[in-house]
Amino acid sequence: MLQRYRSPLFAAATGPGRPYSEAVMAVSDNYPRCDRHDDRNAEVYCQTCYVSVCLICATTRHLPTHHCLDIADAVDECRSILARHASDLTQTCWNCLTGIEDTNVRIESIRSELLYCFFFVWKTYIPGIYTG
Ligand SMILES: [Zn+2]
Ligand SMILES: [Zn+2]
Repeated sequence: MLQRYRSPLFAAATGPGRPYSEAVMAVSDNYPRCDRHDDRNAEVYCQTCYVSVCLICATTRHLPTHHCLDIADAVDECRSILARHASDLTQTCWNCLTGIEDTNVRIESIRSELLYCFFFVWKTYIPGIYTG
């Protein structure tokens, strides 16, 4: 229980001049609830079952055979994974935009060639209409 108060969630909840009890409440509100026990915070994440559970469920149903993490560590790991995905997605979007720009340049080039051909045909085969 005390370890929870040293977690990143608790650190984020505590601010300058914020009463300790208020910070504890904020942490408590930010924790997901255990699937089996509505009145208990899920303080452990089981990576084997992909569920967030309370300490009772962790000790009686998941440990020691399942791979369990402190929920704050699991949140940090998820944030790292999301940051990597966001970075990859940004790169993919940038590549798409570059591809679109290249395609637009090619379209303009083809449009110019077509206009040149159009005026050539017009001037050559329809004399008297083109006055340029
Ligand atoms: Zn539980
Ligand atoms: Zn499990």
